[in-house]
Amino acid sequence: MDLVIVGASLAGVRTAQALRRKGFDGRITLVGAEPHLPYDRPPLSKDFLLGKTDSAALTLLTAEQAEDLGLELRLGEPATALDRAARRVRLSGGDAVPYDILVAATGSTPRTPPVELPGVHVLRTIDDAVAVRDALAGGPRVAVVGGGFIGAEVACAARALGLETTLVDSAPTLMTRGLGPVLGEAMAARHRALGVALRMGRTVREARGSSRVEELVLDDGSVVAADLVVAGIGAEPAVGWLDGAGLDLTDGVGCDALLRATGAEDVYAVGDVASWRSTRYGGPVRVEHWTAAGEQAMAVAATITGTPTAFDSLPYVWSDQAGARLQIFGRVMPGDEVVFVLGGPEEERFAAITGGAGRLHAVVAFGALAEAMRYRTLLLRGAEWVPGLGVPRA
Ligand SMILES: Cc1cc2nc3c(=O)[nH]c(=O)nc-3n(C[C@H](O)[C@H](O)[C@H](O)COP(=O)(O)OP(=O)(O)OC[C@H]3O[C@@H](n4cnc5c(N)ncnc54)[C@H](O)[C@@H]3O)c2cc1C
Repeated sequence: MDLVIVGASLAGVRTAQALRRKGFDGRITLVGAEPHLPYDRPPLSKDFLLGKTDSAALTLLTAEQAEDLGLELRLGEPATALDRAARRVRLSGGDAVPYDILVAATGSTPRTPPVELPGVHVLRTIDDAVAVRDALAGGPRVAVVGGGFIGAEVACAARALGLETTLVDSAPTLMTRGLGPVLGEAMAARHRALGVALRMGRTVREARGSSRVEELVLDDGSVVAADLVVAGIGAEPAVGWLDGAGLDLTDGVGCDALLRATGAEDVYAVGDVASWRSTRYGGPVRVEHWTAAGEQAMAVAATITGTPTAFDSLPYVWSDQAGARLQIFGRVMPGDEVVFVLGGPEEERFAAITGGAGRLHAVVAFGALAEAMRYRTLLLRGAEWVPGLGVPRA
C-alpha cells in the first residue's frame, strides 16, 4: 500500500506519525515544497522574532525520526499536479509518485501585498521569519498591515523590542473576524496600552520609497513612515496543485465528516487546507488553527487504518499578545451578544462568553486560563444562552 502525504508540515507530519502509531505498515512518502525539515509555525510571529527561540527548537521531525518511522521525504519538491485516474502526484522535478491513498496537507499561502519593494514582508515560513527578525534588529519604524492574529502578534513583538509601531486595518477593531467587534475592541485597548499606534478603518493606498519602502500612504491621505512593513492580510488554502483534478476546491479541499475529499474515496485532506462537513456547525468549516491540524491528522489516520472517525472537535485557537495569552474556544458568531465573566473590555485580563439564538457559542479569555477552561466545559455540554445573562446560573 503506497500512501503519499503532500505537505510536510504540522498536519502532514502528524498524519504520518499517527499512521505508524496505529500500525500502518505501507510505504509513506512525505512531499514538501520547502527545503527545510518540517517545523512548527506559531513561534515564528512570537518568540522567534524576539530572538528567544531559534530554528532548531521548532523542528517537528528530524531526519532520524523520519528514518525510524520509515518515511520517505521528498523535500523542496512541490507537487504540481494530481492525476486521479492514474493515481499519481506529479512533482516539480518531473517525477510522478504513485499512491493508493493520498493525503492533502498543503496548508495555506499568505496573500501578498500588491507591491514589490524591499522592506515589505509576509510571515508564513521560517525564511520569512528570519527576514523579518533580521530587519527588526536594525531598529526600523514598523508598519503592520492587517490586524488579524499574525499582524497583531508582530505588532506586539515590535513593541517588545521598543520599536515605533503602527498597525493599519480596514476593520474597526483588531481580529474582528475571530473575535467580533466588542472583544476585538478589548484587544485593541491592550495594543494601545502597549504603545501600538492603531489606524483602524483605514486602507493602504500606496507604499512609497525609492530603493526600499519608506512610507505608506493611507486612504485618507495620511502618511505612515516605515522602514519595515509586515503584511498580515490573510491566507488562502494552497490548492493550486489540485487544479483540474476534479475535486471540490470551493474553499480548500471540500471533504465529508471523515475528512475524505468529496467524491474521492482515496483522497483525504488535513489541516488548514481541509474544509469538512461539520455536524457541530451544520455545514462546511475550514479553520487555520494549530490544534485542529493535529486532531484532524489523528482522525484521518484512524479512518485509514480501519476505524472510521469523524472529526468534529470544538475549535480552539490561541495567540500570545501584549504579555498574555488570548484563547478562543468555539466560534464567535456574527451578531453574538457578549458577556464579560471576568474583568472588562478595558482591563489587562478578561474573560467573556458569547452567544445567541439560545446557545453559548464561544469563550474568549485573555490571560484568564481558569475561566477559559470552566466555560469550555459548558460549551462542550452545549449550554443554553440566556439574553442579558449569558449562561444560566447554576
Ligand atoms: C506565523 C504564524 C503563527 C501562527 N500562530 C498560531 C497560533 O498562535 N495559534 C494557532 O492555533 N495557530 C497558529 N498558526 C496557524 C498554524 O500554524 C497552522 O494552522 C498550521 O501550521 C497548519 O498546519 P498545516 O500543516 O495544515 O499547514 P502549513 O503549516 O501551512 O503547512 C503546509 C505545508 O505544505 C507545503 N506545501 C504547500 N503547497 C505544497 C505543494 N504543492 N507541494 C508540497 N508541499 C506544499 C507548505 O510549504 C507547508 O510547508 C500560526 C501560523 C503562522 C504562519
